[in-house]
Amino acid sequence: MFLDRDGVLNRTFLRDGVTRPPSALSELELLPGVPDALGRLKDAGYLLIVVTNQPDVARGTQSRERVEEMHAWLRERLPLDAVRACYHDGSDGCACRKPRPGLLLEEAARLGVDLSRSVMVGDRGTDVHAGRAAGCATILVGTPDPGGRDARPDRVAADLAEAVGLILGDDREEDEDMNEPVPSVAALRVKIFADGADAASMIELGRRSHIAGFTTNPTLMRKAGVVDYRAFAREVLAAVPDRPISFEVLADELPEMERQAREIASWGPNVYVKIPVTNTRRETTSPLVRRLAGEGVHVNVTAVFTLDQVRAVAEDLARGPHSYVSVFAGRIADTGRDPAPLMARAVELLRPYPQEELIWASPRELLNVFQADAIGCHVITATSDVLAKLGLVGKDLDDFSLDTVKMFHDDAQKADFRL
Ligand SMILES: [Mg+2]
Repeated sequence: MFLDRDGVLNRTFLRDGVTRPPSALSELELLPGVPDALGRLKDAGYLLIVVTNQPDVARGTQSRERVEEMHAWLRERLPLDAVRACYHDGSDGCACRKPRPGLLLEEAARLGVDLSRSVMVGDRGTDVHAGRAAGCATILVGTPDPGGRDARPDRVAADLAEAVGLILGDDREEDEDMNEPVPSVAALRVKIFADGADAASMIELGRRSHIAGFTTNPTLMRKAGVVDYRAFAREVLAAVPDRPISFEVLADELPEMERQAREIASWGPNVYVKIPVTNTRRETTSPLVRRLAGEGVHVNVTAVFTLDQVRAVAEDLARGPHSYVSVFAGRIADTGRDPAPLMARAVELLRPYPQEELIWASPRELLNVFQADAIGCHVITATSDVLAKLGLVGKDLDDFSLDTVKMFHDDAQKADFRL
């Protein structure tokens, strides 16, 4: 760690509009936080080397003895390994006067310092230039001279204490994206079900091993232009015979709902019958769900929004085979409520029923996959736009930044915008 002296370690004085160093020991005063900051660096294993220009000696307005007296004082109070001064005034073309790197290079050679892992901290452009010329990182502190920022230091800090914070990584908590593990699809425990109604894309997705199942619903089927429900189901089931796939009943009256449920269940062993938690008159489907589950039908109770509903459905499915409870987390989020705590509680409510699994339904963004995973939710459904983003998981953010800049640039070019 190379340290400038005046304005970094000790106070300077403004005389006739010019910043001046202390002229004698009586004026030498450490800046706040300096002993602690240097103590932290020392504890972290840094060598602390002061490199300072003291041209007043060559100019005859200061004696070398007085400057050395001040350096002895500094060495008594601070854990410094070396204090090196250039006493020239620049007229003799010496190699040691900053912005030249002579003092840094000499001390690096003497003490075996790796300059590429060193930092120069100063309050002037000349400090930054000297540090860079020596191959160090540079931090500008204090009240820099006009040339300071023009010198393009690597970092800028209010004072030495803040500079030391930057070096020792105190800012890492704020930049936590730098330290978090890179997300990966392979590490997910939550099962991803594709939500869709377009037979061709469902068949295509069926070839992908990371799609663990499928769900569909009348709204998606209508959007996809499905006209023959049975034919659509047959086509998809022929392509996906081995993974759970849910089809929803269409009726609103409970007896007709039950008839449809039995027909849908007959389509295949991997078929789950989606039953909404109520009909359109708010009448509960609980007795129907209970009966179907009791007869061995795989049920997926859907359009569940509240924990009371989760409790009731969990009990309805308790004596049945493997089944799903679909809680519409995304739609809950659409009301301004964070669905994650509710979903976490739903996971707990289903824990006594090992054959029942919770589905995080209607996700709104890719992040929901990771939220569902974090709370131990068993399944998340994902529409094709969310699935498409799986390819971005873990992407380097600097690369993503560049891609985004390129996209803006390309579109501006293509549009032939002019200013
Ligand atoms: Mg200075």
